[in-house]
Amino acid sequence: MDIYKHPTFDMACEQFDLVADHLQMPQEHRERVKFPKRSLTVAVPVRMDSGEVKVFSGYRVQHHLSLGPTKGGLRFHPDVTLGEVAALAMWMSWKCALTGLPYGGAKGGVACDPRKLSIGELERVTRRFTQEIIPFIGPQIDIPAPDVGSNEQMMAWIMDSYSIHAGHSVPGVVTGKPVNLGGSLGRREATGRGVGFLVGRAMDVLGLRADQCTAVVQGYGNVGSIAALSMAKHGVKIIAVSDVDGGLYNADGIDLNALNDHVAARKTVAGFAGAEPISNTDLLELKCDVLAPCALERQITAANAAKLQCRILAEGANGPTTPDGDVIIDQRGDIFLIPDILCNSGGVVVSYFEWVQDLQSFFWSEAEVVDKLFRILEQAFTATWNLSKNEKLSMRMAALTLGIKRVWEAKKQRGLFP
Ligand code: NAD
Repeated sequence: MDIYKHPTFDMACEQFDLVADHLQMPQEHRERVKFPKRSLTVAVPVRMDSGEVKVFSGYRVQHHLSLGPTKGGLRFHPDVTLGEVAALAMWMSWKCALTGLPYGGAKGGVACDPRKLSIGELERVTRRFTQEIIPFIGPQIDIPAPDVGSNEQMMAWIMDSYSIHAGHSVPGVVTGKPVNLGGSLGRREATGRGVGFLVGRAMDVLGLRADQCTAVVQGYGNVGSIAALSMAKHGVKIIAVSDVDGGLYNADGIDLNALNDHVAARKTVAGFAGAEPISNTDLLELKCDVLAPCALERQITAANAAKLQCRILAEGANGPTTPDGDVIIDQRGDIFLIPDILCNSGGVVVSYFEWVQDLQSFFWSEAEVVDKLFRILEQAFTATWNLSKNEKLSMRMAALTLGIKRVWEAKKQRGLFP
């Protein structure tokens, strides 16, 4: 599968191979469970504000079709490639299976820098990309959602473009929409809120008290900012945060309300007066109780894993730790890992709730959403923790084993088609 060649795809394959060996999966089953079922690459021609026409590359990968339609976010970032999206689609499969959702994994994106596009250009890129992938998506086929660089407004444009094509409103084609258009209460906060809940469960296991703990959050976007807020609500002191423009550190704790006002005005954490600047490298190695990487892949590697000074590593991002970083963390044995497919699964769980509500045209209160979310996360955390203890596996191996096993079983039960 050379078309997916990318360091992040190699990393997802390496993780899969370790689990397949552990499960003693026969060789002839491995390629079917591991590689994406189908993928689409599209050219997205867009007229820019200058009058010039630019062509962007867009991708959508559907990893497996064995448990229902596929589900996963859309990334708008300059470095998006088919291989990166394929790796993220694989992780979505294991995540949906771990949390018991009736979906295969998918992921997509457009190689562009949304921060450099005007609002009109961003709308034209989003609508034209949707137009190109219309035959590939739908409420019973594949349901996109937000990821890095995409947001509620963009999901509204996708829903509208798809609905124009269908001739009637189809809210179930996408999740993470504005609540006014059939979005779910609690979806925007779901991923970060889930990170906060699972950090709380890890603290229970370790016997730590939230109000005596500190946390560092890399990536102050949708996931990172809400994860920070959720932890702070339980008394955790947030001592450092960062985004693509730089990091902030304050040993006495950062005032998140003041920081959120600053971010709302400036669109970045950089320049906030209530903390000192810190580099991203130094931020990851700060002494703290919780380190939550919530930005991009491959941040914790063989180069820095030995230098981490946290008790809990809460992976809000997808794929923040490389397999060689994992080996070091395992050997150290002093860090409680909440692996990505568990830690950030709150997002897809509430996306699932949104899809169910859209299909039924019957909407739930935020309290109902949060209660159902925490029940599913509790179940997934307990299953992962129990398997990790019983079979002496790392938390990552335990979570991946549960996810991959369910997909493998479904493929055995159904046959060769999906
Ligand atoms: P976002 O675009 O809202 O935020 C990403 C943040 O990371 C931004 O603040 C950006 O400036 C920062 N960032 C980028 N590069 C960085 C770098 N090199 N160093 C420090 N910060 C950097 O995206 P998001 O939706 O919060 O997604 C973040 C991560 O969480 C991704 O890995 C994504 O796949 C994962 N995730 C998101 C969701 C969701 O519901 N949005 C669900 C599950 C997983």
